[in-house]
Amino acid sequence: MAEQARTATRRTTKFLKPVTRELVRARVLASERISPSFVRVTVGGERLSSIAPMGFDHWFRMLFPETGQSELHLPTAADDQWWPQLQAMPDDIRPLLRNYTIRRYRPAGAGRFGDTAEIDIDFASHGDLGPASVWADTVRPGEELGLLDEGIIYQPFPDARWQLLVGDESALPALAGILDSMEFGRPVEVFVEVADPDDVTAQELRTGPGVRVHPVVRSDPDLRPDTAVTEAVRAAVLPDEPGYVFLAGESGLVTGVRRHLVRERGLPKSSVSFTGYWNYGAAAY
Ligand SMILES: Cc1cc2nc3c(=O)[nH]c(=O)nc-3n(C[C@H](O)[C@H](O)[C@H](O)COP(=O)(O)OP(=O)(O)OC[C@H]3O[C@@H](n4cnc5c(N)ncnc54)[C@H](O)[C@@H]3O)c2cc1C
Repeated sequence: MAEQARTATRRTTKFLKPVTRELVRARVLASERISPSFVRVTVGGERLSSIAPMGFDHWFRMLFPETGQSELHLPTAADDQWWPQLQAMPDDIRPLLRNYTIRRYRPAGAGRFGDTAEIDIDFASHGDLGPASVWADTVRPGEELGLLDEGIIYQPFPDARWQLLVGDESALPALAGILDSMEFGRPVEVFVEVADPDDVTAQELRTGPGVRVHPVVRSDPDLRPDTAVTEAVRAAVLPDEPGYVFLAGESGLVTGVRRHLVRERGLPKSSVSFTGYWNYGAAAY
């Protein structure tokens, strides 16, 4: 499935983007707390079939109403004009925007809740700190959201002899999606920092020969993520051959691990893909 979708994509400097896309309107079908930190929200809608699932860390822009907005207003453009259109909307109707990962995609006819295609989105809940977290914690079936397909960031080079995947809770859906989609055979080390080990268990991570998953549990759930997982990566023994690294999560975590790998271990910068998923103490937009 993922290979098929890759043929219908175009590569940009960092992302593998869908060739065509639309800003899809969808509805919440169900929500469920699957572990101490995670809420899984399932969405569906006729136009979700326009998204070609790419597997791996496939992500999208999520547009959703701010508290007090009774209706969801969306930009009409999905090309470069969607952002100026969003900015030009009056404050009282402009939706909020955050980024999320497609944890699972079920095509039309294979859904759990209806006839349309369905997407599971796993939200790492951080209480009332951010509007997306509040939305996921309180959303009800029937509420609307918009999705804008952004493609994938994970792009290992073909002759990578091993892979290292590192992240925190926010990246756990992406790490799980990468494990679901990848071919096993070469060593894969996965380090994921979480507040509770059940958060990892609930993701039912796919595993196989050569795959080793290392959950790193923060001693203080409120601690800024980066110290525990960075220390764990520092202690890891990595093969002395070309390898590919995917880093995602809180910006400090990502830059700290990258700095260690590039400066102290001598990995080429080009072999490390790194994306700050959120900033400690700052809203995404
Ligand atoms: C490509 C991509 C894919 C992503 N996929 C997922 C995903 O599948 N699941 C997921 O949960 N997140 C994912 N994220 C991260 C998510 O977009 C951010 O966590 C986002 O900032 C949450 O929005 P918010 O409105 O809740 O908080 P914001 O309004 O952005 O921030 C408000 C406050 O909450 C804090 N905060 C934000 N996120 C977190 C967090 N995760 N943990 C603790 N504190 C936080 C901020 O530091 C700030 O103080 C992804 C990000 C990217 C770039």
